[in-house]
Amino acid sequence: MPNKRIYLCLAHMSEAGLEQKYIKEAFDTNWVVPLGPNVNGFEADLEQFVGENKRVVALCSGTAAVHLALIACGVGPGDEVIVQSFTFCASSHPITYLGAIPVFVDSEKDSWNMDPDLMEEAIKGRIAKTGKKPKAIVPVALYGMPYNIDRIMEIAAKYDIPVVEDAAEGFGSRWREQVLGTFGVYGILSFNGNKMITTSGGGALVCPDAQAWQKIMWLATQAREAYPYYQHEAIGYNYRLSNICAGIGRGQMTVVDDHIRHHKHVQKFYEETFADVPGITVHGNPDDRFDSNFWLCTILLDEQLRVKGQESAYSTAVQGAVGGAAGVVHGGGTLHTDCEPNANVEAMRVWLDQKGIEARPLWKPMHKQPVYKNAPAYVNGVSESLFKVGMCLPSGPMVTDEDLTYIVESIKEAVMR
Ligand SMILES: *Cc1c(COP(=O)(O)O)cnc(C)c1O
Repeated sequence: MPNKRIYLCLAHMSEAGLEQKYIKEAFDTNWVVPLGPNVNGFEADLEQFVGENKRVVALCSGTAAVHLALIACGVGPGDEVIVQSFTFCASSHPITYLGAIPVFVDSEKDSWNMDPDLMEEAIKGRIAKTGKKPKAIVPVALYGMPYNIDRIMEIAAKYDIPVVEDAAEGFGSRWREQVLGTFGVYGILSFNGNKMITTSGGGALVCPDAQAWQKIMWLATQAREAYPYYQHEAIGYNYRLSNICAGIGRGQMTVVDDHIRHHKHVQKFYEETFADVPGITVHGNPDDRFDSNFWLCTILLDEQLRVKGQESAYSTAVQGAVGGAAGVVHGGGTLHTDCEPNANVEAMRVWLDQKGIEARPLWKPMHKQPVYKNAPAYVNGVSESLFKVGMCLPSGPMVTDEDLTYIVESIKEAVMR
């Protein structure tokens, strides 16, 4: 057993220490503010990376990017927004910040992302029910996997509804060779500490043109008007990225391709080594239109697979809110919720945890979250059944081949024959 813990996706800096060089420059030139040469440089790097003549605004988080994109789509109180249910809460929470209502749409089996047919059903259903079209559609590149953007864009165009791509987990993933975040009107990127690259915390909004870019920039800097004094004619936000954090981002942009290559290597390792293990399935690209960055590699455990310790799974409350606590609500002293991973998945998580390996259940679908119990949902059972059998494995740039061998051996050891 290695004398370190192996995490899902730890931050990893460039060998040359460029992150620190850019930060030092910011201090040396006294640009310790939420604008400056690093912010401009980082945005230029991002524009180059995503291509398609897009403009990019660097922001303090991916959540802020979702919020601003929705505002730019005209979402307001009482409006409805279609959003993938199988996601992290940052896709849907900003809808509620605006007093709008998320309409959750379930996933398709192969990509695990928004089911286009169900999405159309949701659009029609909402129009029939409320007489109004949803104001935006938010598909999510869960764990980096692309959504079927061809069909989503086709249906969105038919009803003339803007698409906001949540590519926070899918930075550098591609659909038919085009980078995610560049298909919809807006694209969300995140540079949180555990994402494909990091600025410690940060995000960006990919914008369609200079006009949209200006509006987002204005909203992100408290919506100031051009006067010698503070003049406000609309409500804005303090959402720009710090010039210090952007320095980290500039350094990270020099290693993003290496990171993506490494995540794909980890995925290939899992695919090959689990190929002959009955009861364990690795989630891979459904076909060659999909090119996931494999931000997190995920496996499914067959319901019948017997895992050591599964009889006593969920018998003690999870301590703390990090790592494996995801999906297990123990507030009020309950050990169970009405929708949780199977006992063998929880037993595997605990087994790996004891071996120094971080593993995590899949994200619990938003339509099963108590906070969203009143939100409309169009479901087919896919995300809920995946949630019960799936888990995320260490995938980041700090995970070595030696670690991978150890992880796979540990998983095999946990299986009862
Ligand atoms: C990380 C993430 C975001 C943005 O999160 P921040 O932590 O605010 O940068 C948005 N959507 C999804 C699906 C994410 O995983």
